[in-house]
Amino acid sequence: MKEIVVLSGKGGTGKTSITASLAVLAGSEAVVADCDVDAANMHLLMQPDFAVASQFYSGELAEINQNICTQCGLCSNVCRFDAIPFQNNKYTVNPLACEGCGYCQKVCPTEAISMKKRKSGYVYISNTKVNSTMVHARLDIGAENSGKLVAKVKSKAKELAEHQNKYFVIVDGSPGIGCPVVSSLSGASYVVLVTEPTVSGLHDLERIYSVIKRFRIKAGCIINKHDINPQKTEEIIEFLNRENIVHLVSIPYDIAFTEAMTQAKTIVETSSRISQKLIDAWNKIKEEAAKN
Ligand code: SF4
Ligand code: SF4
Repeated sequence: MKEIVVLSGKGGTGKTSITASLAVLAGSEAVVADCDVDAANMHLLMQPDFAVASQFYSGELAEINQNICTQCGLCSNVCRFDAIPFQNNKYTVNPLACEGCGYCQKVCPTEAISMKKRKSGYVYISNTKVNSTMVHARLDIGAENSGKLVAKVKSKAKELAEHQNKYFVIVDGSPGIGCPVVSSLSGASYVVLVTEPTVSGLHDLERIYSVIKRFRIKAGCIINKHDINPQKTEEIIEFLNRENIVHLVSIPYDIAFTEAMTQAKTIVETSSRISQKLIDAWNKIKEEAAKN
């Protein structure tokens, strides 16, 4: 099984639209994983049916038993996050401020505080419009630990791919280089980088590739909107050559991309000139991934 992770290093490059296009081209050959859990939106293009939902728990949250609490205020004094205010004549935990460190529980003289598992979101297993399985998630408002949620989404997608005998897992990774990206990368067979010819596009491409290099994973690159800045595109190609990154395809700017999105479609579901470029890129990705 080959796990193909699509990353961008920055938001706004067209990563998710391109990942969804690859997922549509792969059809039922692949299990799709939306690991951009902090801003998940691949479901808008893949139209999953949210068939199975399960709660995701991560970290802990303090809870005060008011029947035992003597209102000594010790817990409130030691909490560095000001998560236990005295309100309405009682000490209560503010779930948005509590970091789950457990210090308040240690100091409470009456054992009124217990640590509960914190619900952070949902994981979904769906059937998509192209008859593939998709694993995706929704993080609750203010919830953290998205790296753990990414790991959960990925491991579920791999498990399903093995069970269904699928050859590919296509992963939409998070932008940036933080914990969710590192979590997306672990176990990857091949990375597809999506960039654009701007100053920040090249800077963030270099930055994300410095992370990928540490994992020793081979990578290819799609340059989106290559014609908006030919000079910057040249600089990106020089960087790709220097680092031995396969230049998969350059895609011109085309309003058809946006028009397709407004109809909840990927560009490969339209008759745009870009479709064939992405079909060629997908064939190249399959070839490259097979080598690893
Ligand atoms: S330390 Fe325990 S007893 Fe004291 S206010 Fe907090 S919960 Fe109540
Ligand atoms: S678990 Fe830590 S962060 Fe949460 S209320 Fe207790 S001391 Fe504060």
